[in-house]
Parts: sequence; C-alpha cells; structure tokens
Amino acid sequence: MVNVLMIRIGACINPNFTPFQFRVNGMAHVYIETLIQRCKTLGHIKQIQAHLLTTGHFQFCSLRSRLLDLCAVSPAGDLGFAVAIFRQIHEPLTNDWNAIIRGLAAGPEPSRAVAWFLSMLRASSSSRCRVDALTCTFTLKACARALCSSTTVQLHAQTSRRGLIADALLYTTLLDAYSKNGDLSSAQKLFEEMPVRDIASWNALIAGLASGNRAYEALELYRRMESDGINPNEVTVLGALAACSHLGDIKEGEKIHGYVKGANLDQNVIVCNAIIDMYAKCGFIDKAFEVFDQIPAKKSVVTWNTMIMGFAIHGEAYKALEIFEQMHHNNIKPDDVSYLAALCACNHMGLTDHGLAIFNSISSNGVEPNMRHYGSLVDLLGRAGRLREAYNVISSIPMVPDPILWQSLLNASQIHKNVEMAETASKKLLEMGSDNDGDFVLLSNIYAAHGRWNDVGRVRDTMKARYVQKIPGFSYIEAEGTIHKFYNGDKSHDRWRDIYKKIDEIRFKIREFGYMAETGLVLHDIGDEEKENALCFHSEKLAMAYGLIITEEEDMPIRVIKNLRICGDCHVVFKHVSKIYNREIVVRDRVRFHRFKDGSCSCRDYW
Ligand code: ZN
Ligand code: ZN
Repeated sequence: MVNVLMIRIGACINPNFTPFQFRVNGMAHVYIETLIQRCKTLGHIKQIQAHLLTTGHFQFCSLRSRLLDLCAVSPAGDLGFAVAIFRQIHEPLTNDWNAIIRGLAAGPEPSRAVAWFLSMLRASSSSRCRVDALTCTFTLKACARALCSSTTVQLHAQTSRRGLIADALLYTTLLDAYSKNGDLSSAQKLFEEMPVRDIASWNALIAGLASGNRAYEALELYRRMESDGINPNEVTVLGALAACSHLGDIKEGEKIHGYVKGANLDQNVIVCNAIIDMYAKCGFIDKAFEVFDQIPAKKSVVTWNTMIMGFAIHGEAYKALEIFEQMHHNNIKPDDVSYLAALCACNHMGLTDHGLAIFNSISSNGVEPNMRHYGSLVDLLGRAGRLREAYNVISSIPMVPDPILWQSLLNASQIHKNVEMAETASKKLLEMGSDNDGDFVLLSNIYAAHGRWNDVGRVRDTMKARYVQKIPGFSYIEAEGTIHKFYNGDKSHDRWRDIYKKIDEIRFKIREFGYMAETGLVLHDIGDEEKENALCFHSEKLAMAYGLIITEEEDMPIRVIKNLRICGDCHVVFKHVSKIYNREIVVRDRVRFHRFKDGSCSCRDYW
C-alpha cells in the first residue's frame, strides 16, 4: 500500500524541491500526513522515515513528530525505533519529546518516561523545546503506573508554576497519579479544588479510595456524585463495586446492580464480572451464580474464574469444579487464574488427590505453573498433614521459593502441631528477612500450645529486634447503614457494656454444651482464667454479640467480616451460638467464608 502511495506522491512531488518549496506546497504535506495515517507496519514507518530524510521533510516538526508518535505509540510501531529516530533530530522540539514520553509512559517501563521528562527539563533551558500540558499529562500517566510519588509532587509544582493546571485533562491525570500512588489526601484536596470536574475526575478518586483501603469514603463519594446529578459510567461502578466487595456492603451493592441494569451497563462483561465478585464477597453466592448464569454480555475467561473463585471461598468445592469443567465444554481455555481458583476450591474442602490431579494437569494444558500454584499445592499437602511432601515440593521447585510457601508450611505445621517442621519453616523465613508478624505469631502459638514459654519469649524478642509490628485484628458488622468496627478487647463502642454482658451470657450458655476455651491459642504465659478472658473479647466475638443484640427480634443471619483469619476458639464458639440461639452466622475472614448453622460450619472445620 505504501509503495503505491509513494509512487503517487512521487508523481506530484518533484524530488528536487527544496524543503522551503515543500512547505509552500501544502499538498505534499497533506499527502505525507495521509501516508503516515495509513501506516500499518514498522516497514511502512521505516520507508516514510527514509522518505522524510531524503526529501528534507524530516526537519518539519509537524510531520516528523506525527511519525514519531505513530512509531512510539501504535501497535505498528516500535519504541526502540522511535528513540532511534529521535536521536537523529538535530534540535528536538516539544512535540518530539512528547511523542517519546507518551510512548514510554504506555510501555513496559513507565519509569523511563520520567527519566526522559527530566532530560527534557534540562534541555529546555538551552533549546526551543518547552514542557507543556501534554508533556506533564504523559509524564503523570507514567508516574501513576510506575508509582513515582516524588515526581508526581514535583510535576504538581511545575504545572502550578507554569499555569498549566487549568487544563482539565491534566488536572484529572494529576489526581489519578496521586490516587494510584496512595497519596489520597492530596488527591482529595485536588478534587475539592478543581474548578470543573468531569466524570473521569470522580472515577479517579472513587477508584483510588476503593483500592486504598478507604472503601467507606469511596461509597460516600459515589453517593455524592449521584446526588450531584452525574450519571456513573462503567468505570465509576467498577470502583464502587470494589468498595462494596471490600466492605461486604450488600445493600449498596444491590443498589449499584439495579443502576447497572437500568443504565444498560451490564452489556459490559467487566462490569458483570465485578457484580459476580461483589455478590460472592458479600456472602451471597447464589445471587452471584444467578448473575453468572443470566449474564447478558459474552462471558470472558475472567467471568468463569470469578465464579470458580466465588464458589471456592464459600467452600462449595464441587460446584467450583463443575464450573471449571464447564469451561472445557464451552471451549474456553482455562488460564493460570482458572487453575489457581480450582486448586483453591480443593484446598478449602481438603480434596487433596483431586487438587494434585489438577496441579499435574496444568503444564500439559500449556500453562506454566507459577509461584501461586506451587503455594496452593504446598497448602493443599500441608493442610492434609502431608508435611514432608509439602516440604519436598518447596525444596524442588524450579525457582527461588517465595516466603509465602514457607508461611503455608508453617501454618500447616501449626494445624498439625508439628514443632520440628514449624521450626524449619520459621528458620527459612528468618533467613529471608521476614518482618511479617504472622510468621512470628504462628511459631509462638506452636510453642505456647506446647507450654514452651522460654521459646515464646525468644520469638517475642526477635520480633522486637526486627521491629515487627503485630497487625491488629479487627472485625466489623453492618447495621442500619453504618459499619461498626471492633478491635480485640474494644470498649469504644457506645453499647460496649451491653456487648460484654451478652458475651458473658453466651459464655455461660455454651459451657452447658461442654465448651472449653482453647487457651492454647493465647500467647501469654498467664493463668487459664485470664487466658479465657483474653479469648472472650476477640473482635469477631464483639461484632457477633452486637449483631445478636441488635437483631434480637428478627430472624436474620448475622454477617461479620474480619481482616485476619478467624481463630480456632471463635470458630468453636460461633458453632455453639448458631445452635443455641438458632441463628445463622456468616463470617468472612481474610481467606474464606464460614457459614455457621445449627452447630456446624460450612468449612466442616477444614480451614
Ligand atoms: Zn477469636
Ligand atoms: Zn468454618
């Protein structure tokens, strides 16, 4: 195609024209521009570049930077070749720099765009190129991807100084860069200062808050957007749904689902996937399946993966594996995440042999097992008590094992009370420089369970020496549109006295059913009664007791979310409570759902 066009250009351009004549000859420019637009391969780009060089057109920034832009950004181009073209320019102008920075910002190494921006700044003091709104926009996009928070702040200052901040696109890009870098207060401040906000500005902040552990504020902002009369689009609902999933806020999630249907956003498969995920994470797996089953958009592999993972975390392994099987019948090729989700389903139900078979089939289906698959395998074997085999897997994998593998083994060693293996795993974690409090707590728990208090003290000293901070456990429960959050032994709630009284009542009642506190789980070397007290006021128990108090008159499930794993003692207590109070309790912990009903849990004590 290009060759044909070349001949046409050749027919209308005299190759002996000087560059000046070219400029006067607007027709030639138009032809070359058309030619650039129609470039489909790197070969075409190279031919045009050669043409620009031989005819002298290369010195015209407008044409040259169009070609550079195409080469740096389009799929037909090649970033390396774009840089090579750039190097041939005697004095690069603003658009030339912008083309390269834009290409690098979208490429695999966005931090290089930041380095180029700094070179451009230096060059601008002695040449005609000037940092403009586009330069800043592209560089900020790179900052958002490469997580360069200091350059973001620097660019904010630059843009204010140069009076560029009035540019709406630049404003939103800056807001997005702050959000993605986790500087949410700067993002919020910027948002409030914006003279004009477009939907992208709302979306950037909602998504930033949702992924930055400030889901509650993300939903507040979403509601404010609606009351300001702005219609949320696909990107907005994705941010808001992520916030609902995080909080387990089913009421808001259902409202958003209603909006999605009304606004026809459910034609978008990514939105449907987020809705399935939201229902699953809020504890409504049947509803998640209903959406999956009736999805108006064409299912993507992510849709299947989301459903498999949903069933997996709810302990419905057979349903998860059925969906996994159905992928084959629907000619959808499982990817690495599908295998991980299927393995996870086996893990949660202790289907060890089934899990092993799935693991062994991964490579033969053209997927390379990665660290997470190995992690799942170690977990699977470890939980089944096959600790030696789990150890052998870690020792023989073809890459450097991630600490997570040793953590799984340590966790399994605690479940199976194997001190020797726990020590081996802990030693490896210490060698790897672990500062994860969980690693130390697990080892202390094992020592505590064996009454080895000297060793518990030693572990605690190591924690202190490494400045390991224990992540505080907390739980929350939603009531009347408000999230009530509890820490262990918390007395900050308005009704804490009622809650503690309720726990005493529960304690009294469940003792009659033979409950004994699992005091081996308490770290401190203290008397049994005190240990029981320490366990009694765990955050999940406070949340559950509050749930019982406020729903005394109603027969509805109590839903509790915990940031860490539910502990063994709370698990036992919740089983008793579900029977004695004839109430379903659903707990979402860091790993999975536990549904307590009639004295037993959906995990069948396998967790
Ligand atoms: Zn507990
Ligand atoms: Zn359970």
